[in-house]
Amino acid sequence: MPTTHEVTNQPPPLTSYDVAAYPALLESLRAHGAGWAEDDLHALGLLAGGPQAQEWARCVEEQPPVLRTHDRYGHRVDEVEFHPHWHDLMRTAVEHGLHAAPWRERTPGAHVARAAKLFVWGQTDAGHLCPVSMTYAAVPALRTSPGLAAAYEPLLTSADYDFGLRPPTTKSGLIAGMSMTEKQGGSDVRANTTRAVPTGDGAGLYALTGHKWFTSAPMSDVFLTLAQAPGGLSCFLVPRVLPDGTRNAIRLMRLKDKLGNRSNASAEIEYEGAVGQLVGEEGAGVKTIIKMVNMTRLDCALATAGGMRLGVVQALHHAGHRRAFGSRLADQPLMTNVLADLAVEAEAATVASMRLAGAVDRGATGGADEQEALFRRIGLAVTKYWVCKRGPAHAAEALECLGGNGYVEESGMPRLYREAPLPSIWEGSGNVAALDALRAMARRPETVEAYFAEVDAAAGADARLDAAIGRLHKELADLTAVEYRARRVVESMALVLQGALLHRHGDAAVADAFCAGRLGADGDGGGLAFGTLPPGVDTAAILARARPAGGSYDGS
Ligand SMILES: Cc1cc2nc3c(=O)[nH]c(=O)nc-3n(C[C@H](O)[C@H](O)[C@H](O)COP(=O)(O)OP(=O)(O)OC[C@H]3O[C@@H](n4cnc5c(N)ncnc54)[C@H](O)[C@@H]3O)c2cc1C
Repeated sequence: MPTTHEVTNQPPPLTSYDVAAYPALLESLRAHGAGWAEDDLHALGLLAGGPQAQEWARCVEEQPPVLRTHDRYGHRVDEVEFHPHWHDLMRTAVEHGLHAAPWRERTPGAHVARAAKLFVWGQTDAGHLCPVSMTYAAVPALRTSPGLAAAYEPLLTSADYDFGLRPPTTKSGLIAGMSMTEKQGGSDVRANTTRAVPTGDGAGLYALTGHKWFTSAPMSDVFLTLAQAPGGLSCFLVPRVLPDGTRNAIRLMRLKDKLGNRSNASAEIEYEGAVGQLVGEEGAGVKTIIKMVNMTRLDCALATAGGMRLGVVQALHHAGHRRAFGSRLADQPLMTNVLADLAVEAEAATVASMRLAGAVDRGATGGADEQEALFRRIGLAVTKYWVCKRGPAHAAEALECLGGNGYVEESGMPRLYREAPLPSIWEGSGNVAALDALRAMARRPETVEAYFAEVDAAAGADARLDAAIGRLHKELADLTAVEYRARRVVESMALVLQGALLHRHGDAAVADAFCAGRLGADGDGGGLAFGTLPPGVDTAAILARARPAGGSYDGS
């Protein structure tokens, strides 16, 4: 056979590298009191960057879950079948405590350590982060009913991944889901029509009847569900299987055919008199479930930051090996601008998300630090909005760094790209997140003080940051027609926060580039696309810091 050609100028696969070897993440880990978790984080990072986990992720993406509504005899079963590697991913996440370790261990810094692990492990397959995150988030909501928390928290926080439909209290570990969105309204859950009627059995049970338009991870053991009780919209704990072993009356109607997030199942479900227990007070459903939503919002930002990091790593790897027009892509000036700009964005997203994990640790979950709780209230809304909003543009640009290869499934970049819009839709879509920041400011003006205390801690570090803080003070002083301007205001707040955090906890070259590219005024800053950092930025230092460590990466 004649040889047609030799394969040259294609990068080697990027594998067997430590996903956790990321300076921005490690610095944040230490800055927020979780340096003690570094060894564990690296162990997980090596797993995440290894060939086995990469194979698991490929399989679950290519073979999505399948709904089985009935058995062969026509009985309803309402089960979802997953690829076996879905369970490998879930088991690893649960064994490493991504779903609950901080509730179990209560060590200072535990939420920060868990956040860093989510960031790292989520770079394998983002889909399974959904049930992992919901299980983590369910605990604070459940604690509003101490009796339920006593019964379920030990199981939700167990390090056992025990898949299968059995009565929850007979299992060695549980996974939790969240069931709020209905056809007629998702952001506006007050429009929910699912009814909850007391069964009158003396055990405080309710029968739920209605539908939910999105309920992800429908094989979860329990769901926190919103329904209209006699006293108003309320939160219920609804198990998939009842204590006597029979299935609760929850029908899985369809699985969504989604843009991305393919490994995860998202179902349309109906409750046909499903049994639930009240969580919190009747009529306080939103107040109760928001405790869960707030935790998943943090994970939306963390997962997006992790996705950005993955995009940067893939782009650097490709550009470090690929040559065009006589030199490596990574050495060509315009490509260094693109790569550095992407790296700066990923670092900014990372430091902001990790700072908020620190706030959760110190203030918002029963901790004593009220200032941190206030900062978290506003900082989370601002960061969820902006980091998630930047995700899709970042993924698209990282993909483009690989040229045509980036558009091909085998590269993994289409998966990253398809996933990117989801965190912005989930748990408060863009507008809703921006309006939530305004609501925090209006209802609790102390949150604005907490925000400025945080950014003022970086005062004097950078004239562009100081000027941006000054502009923001003026912008917030006049809140006329602010709802119309919400995105603009919240974007400014997010950029200032990221700039301040990079100066305080990050790298000098990255902080300088961020302020030059994002906070410059009067047209002397960066442009709208990535790759528009102004001259004078130390791209070499930024890129040296951003390169993945070890493994097959040698494109230094
Ligand atoms: C893959 C996936 C999985 C999901 N899993 C779950 C799940 O497990 N459980 C669950 O309960 N839900 C789930 N959801 C639903 C998700 O939380 C909702 O889609 C989301 O909250 C938005 O609600 P909606 O779709 O009804 O859109 P709407 O509420 O109709 O919003 C549509 C648009 O209008 C904007 N908007 C809304 N209100 C305002 C306003 N006042 N001013 C300006 N703009 C506004 C929103 O930002 C959005 O852009 C999932 C969604 C997806 C895509």
